[in-house]
Amino acid sequence: MSNKKPAIFLDRDGVINHNRPDYVKTWDEFVFLPNVFVPFRRIAKSKYLVVIISNQSPIGRGIVQKAVVDEINMLMSAEIERHKGRVDAIYYCPHAPEDHCDCRKPEPGMFFQAAQELGIDLANSFYVGDAVSDVQAALRAGCRPIMVLSGRGEEQLQKNQHLREIVPVVKDLAAALDLILGD
Ligand SMILES: [Mg+2]
Ligand SMILES: [Zn+2]
Repeated sequence: MSNKKPAIFLDRDGVINHNRPDYVKTWDEFVFLPNVFVPFRRIAKSKYLVVIISNQSPIGRGIVQKAVVDEINMLMSAEIERHKGRVDAIYYCPHAPEDHCDCRKPEPGMFFQAAQELGIDLANSFYVGDAVSDVQAALRAGCRPIMVLSGRGEEQLQKNQHLREIVPVVKDLAAALDLILGD
């Protein structure tokens, strides 16, 4: 038996909090989606690590400072923990698309980094996201994508109907947890 741990990887914007067309730039602009703390509580009691993986290109675009993103993530984690949830690690890509890095989703770099640093069994892990690039990144990383209709999900699916055939589509994070852990 492998001593590697399975994880539930989560995208941030559109899965945990509302998307903004002009990016989340301050803690004031970070608004939790409805019904998001219950699923966090469920994961906290499960065998799964909770790892957030997100693209934060506003850093690379010069719109937000890295320290501000770190502060937002810290306050988000504190709020989740206050509601008896758990966040084991947060990874984000600070680059702009034109940097052509290997961490910006749909590239799988952050998944491999997390797997190495935390001893994660990718094949038995899930990634919950609201965008096509999330599905692509999960598949490239060798974990199982689940797409949510919250955030940009609805719009992304409308433009990419074929996704419904290759990936489970559910309403939100709570429904994704129902799928993973059983309801
Ligand atoms: Mg998203
Ligand atoms: Zn990057």
